[in-house]
Parts: sequence; C-alpha cells; structure tokens
Amino acid sequence: MPSIRSRSIDPTDLLTAIARGAEMMSQRNSWPDGVNTLLAELGRSTGVSRVWIFQTVELGLNHIIQDYVFEWAAAPHYAQIGMSCFSMSKRHFDLPEYRALIDSRRHGEHQSMLPRELPPSWLRTHLLDDQSIQSMLTIPIFVDGLWWGTLGFDDCEREYRWSKPEVALLRTASALITSAILRDQLSARDKQFEILKSLTDSSAWKIDLKTGRSWVTGDLVKRPGQPPADRSLNMLGLCRLVHPEDIRGLIKAIQDYVANAEGTLRHDVRLRHHASNQHWVEIIGSLSRDLQGRPGQLAGIAVDIRHRKRREIVLQRMAETDSLTGAVNRRAFDEHLEYQLSKPQLKDSPLSLLMLDLDHFKAINDAWGHPIGDMVLKAFAEICRTNLRDGDVLARLGGEEFALLLPGANTQAACVAGERIRRTVEAFRLECCAELRITVSIGCATCRCGLSTSEELLNAADAVLYQAKREGRNQLVTASSSMIN
Ligand code: GH3
Ligand code: MG
Ligand code: MG
Repeated sequence: MPSIRSRSIDPTDLLTAIARGAEMMSQRNSWPDGVNTLLAELGRSTGVSRVWIFQTVELGLNHIIQDYVFEWAAAPHYAQIGMSCFSMSKRHFDLPEYRALIDSRRHGEHQSMLPRELPPSWLRTHLLDDQSIQSMLTIPIFVDGLWWGTLGFDDCEREYRWSKPEVALLRTASALITSAILRDQLSARDKQFEILKSLTDSSAWKIDLKTGRSWVTGDLVKRPGQPPADRSLNMLGLCRLVHPEDIRGLIKAIQDYVANAEGTLRHDVRLRHHASNQHWVEIIGSLSRDLQGRPGQLAGIAVDIRHRKRREIVLQRMAETDSLTGAVNRRAFDEHLEYQLSKPQLKDSPLSLLMLDLDHFKAINDAWGHPIGDMVLKAFAEICRTNLRDGDVLARLGGEEFALLLPGANTQAACVAGERIRRTVEAFRLECCAELRITVSIGCATCRCGLSTSEELLNAADAVLYQAKREGRNQLVTASSSMIN
C-alpha cells in the first residue's frame, strides 16, 4: 500500500532547479537541449520518478494525437520514451472522463491526481495499472495562446499532494518551456525568411499602427557605399523611402486594408533611394490586432519586382504604340488628352493640338507601292519626333493621319512647331526615290486646360485641317479661339 509522501519538497531546491533551468533555457539554441536539463533539474528537486512532455500534435473534435517528446527518468526502469504506445499516439474522446481531462488541459488547468482515489475507470486503470503511477501532476504548456502540450510529473513510488506554491513554481517552469519553444519557432522563421529572401529578393518591414514606429531591414534603407543595417523609423522616415508619386497611393492602400483587413495587403511602389527611380517593390503585409481587437501591427515583406515591372512596361508600351511608326495609338492618345485636360495642376495652362494629314497619300501608294508608302509614314513620324519637346505626344490616329499634343504651348508656339514640320516634310527626300515629294496639311487648335473638353479641341483642330485641305493642302491653318469655347 503506497504511503502519502510526508516529506514535502524543499522550496529552495525547487527554486534553484528552476533558476538553473532558466539560465540554460535563456541561452541560444536552448531548444531542445536546455529542456532536457530543465526536466532533470525539476525531477531531482521534486524527487519524482519521471518528468515528461507530451506535445499536442493534432487536436480534432473527437480525437487527439500526442507525441511523447521529452523525458527525464530517475532510473532506467521508469523510462517510457521511445515506446510505441507513447509516440504519436492517437486517442478518441469516447470516454467522458478522458474528454474532461483533455478539455481541462486545453483550458490551462493543472491536474493533480492520486489514481488510487479515482473511481474505477479507464483512466485509473491506464495510470495505476498500466504505468504504476501513484501520483501525477500535469501542467499545460501554452504557446501563442494555444495549448501546445503538457508537462507531467509521475511518481511511481509514493502518493504526493502537490501544494499550491509548488504548482505555481512548476507553472513558471512551463512558462520557461513556452519561451524556449517560441524562440525556437522564431529562429526557424528567421531561417525560413532568409531562404525566402534569397530566393525572392525580399526585405522585411513592420509598422506599429498605434505609435507610428516602424522597422525595416537594412536592404530597404541601404545607401550606395554603406553596409546595410536594419533601422527604426518614424512614419515620416518610412514615407521618405517611397517615391514621392507613390506615397499617396500606398497610404490609401494601407488605410483601405486596415479598414477592411481582408486577406493580404498587396501594393506596388517605387523606392526613392534608387538612382533610376525604377526600383519597384511589391509591398505584401498582414495585420495583427491587440487583445481588444484594435489594429496593432502591420508587418510584411517588400519583394523586388523590377523584372516584372520592366516586362509590364514593355508590354504596356507595345499595347499603346503603333508598330510601324513608333507613335502612340488612338487609345493611348485619348488617355493623354484627357489626362492633360483634367490634371488640376495644369488648370488654365494652354494645350495645343496639331492634326496632321499627309497630302494625296493614296496617290503615293498607287505610284510607288505600299512598302514605299510605309517608309514615308516612318520618315514622317521621325520628322515630327525631332520637333518634339519633353512631354509632347505624337500619335498615329489612323492611316496617314497623325496628332501632336503640345502641353503648355500657346497658339504661336504650336504654329511655329507645325510650320517647322511642314517645311521639313516639304524638303524631305527618300534616298531610294528622289523624285517622290510629300507634303502635309496641318490644323492647329489651342485651348485652356480645365475650360474645354477633348471633343471641342479635336473638332476644332479637325475643322481647320480640312480647311487646309480645301484651300490647297501643304499649309497650316489655325483655329480661332471662338471655335473652341
Ligand atoms: P488627302 O490629301 O485628302 O488626305 O488624300 P489622301 O490620299 O492622303 O487620303 P485618303 O484618305 O484618300 O487615302 C489615305 C491612304 O492612306 C489610303 C490608304 O491606302 C493609305 N494608308 C493607310 N494606312 C496605310 C499604311 O499603313 N501604309 C500605307 N502604305 N498606306 C496606308
Ligand atoms: Mg491624306
Ligand atoms: Mg486622311
């Protein structure tokens, strides 16, 4: 008949054991070796037969899979680790007492059991007869708020009632295990991130939404000639990393994501520090909330997408460009025109449009053949281009009809540019066919941004182009302001 162990555990021994364990566990890579030391210290100071850790591998609605991952045994005959019945053991909750036991552990409760005092049941048989346990204490281990596993103390020689202070101290030991697991998980995540980073060319960042404090990895703040170093930044510093034109869009994307918090934040921006201003990254992030459910931290990665962007830009250019002449097509021209007319900063500034149509082009095709006609179209576009300033847009609207959009140019400046083109075209000779002459008719219209519609400007330029045709071709006609407003 086992006796209730009268000798209580020396609290100093237990404290010393926990302190030694804490020291071991606080060292780097303390998982898993430090855990074995902690279990041994706890086992010796409490005088039990066995200290063990069961990891909860899977918790279903009606079953649990647990793995017996750590053990310290006072003598070889107490050891159970490696026994097939303990490793990755799956059990169903068909017995109410077993379900109650698991539920209690899941809710963070400890259990101190003297199997002899249990009513006859599977649990009593399992503990007392199968494992010869006289007393058992279990303390759940929680990681990130989830029941990760169980720390257990078996005494196979004596019955022992654990005191409240002893249980409280052993809960501290369980918390030490929790922090070692967390540290191990973090270092595994660090390694995973390093691999991901090297494969995807990504950097990491996080923003504390309450304080605005941010942290970014060194590669995001690296300046030429300086080694990369991780940095803490305030919101202003963070914004300074982003290309000025992309800041507003990024802030809006973050605000929308935090407001809805569905899925993952994904947004493309350019980084400012890069000389070419074309260092595109995709910001990918997710939100974590505090205990009250308020947005707490936004964290994620920035993936280098320069190659993808370059491809996108090439594809977009192809979709907007006429392949024969390199001028933009009708659709892209319409967008440019609408953009210029509606941009608030340009309100009231002049915008001129030249409509250019080659004269008797059909006759050129007929006389010289279509391929020569194509060469003329290319040469004409090249002449226009040499007369463009930055920001001007040359478009091929159809067959041999072109448009030149001249932002900021008043009627006089537009006429000068148009006349120069007309004269250059008139003087132009193709090397292969010196007798071929070409001329162009031009209609010029000017409006003030924000005051006219694209339709009004196009109609006015069209009208004077046809006037130029009617009046003999090879000339430029200017629309009067009354034709537009
Ligand atoms: P107008 O002076 O009144 O403008 O007379 P036009 O002959 O230039 O005008 P019309 O609209 O009658 O003919 C335009 C011609 O342009 C007809 C078409 O075959 C030719 N064209 C349209 N696209 C191309 C092209 O891509 N290559 C070549 N070579 N010719 C083209
Ligand atoms: Mg024509
Ligand atoms: Mg035409």
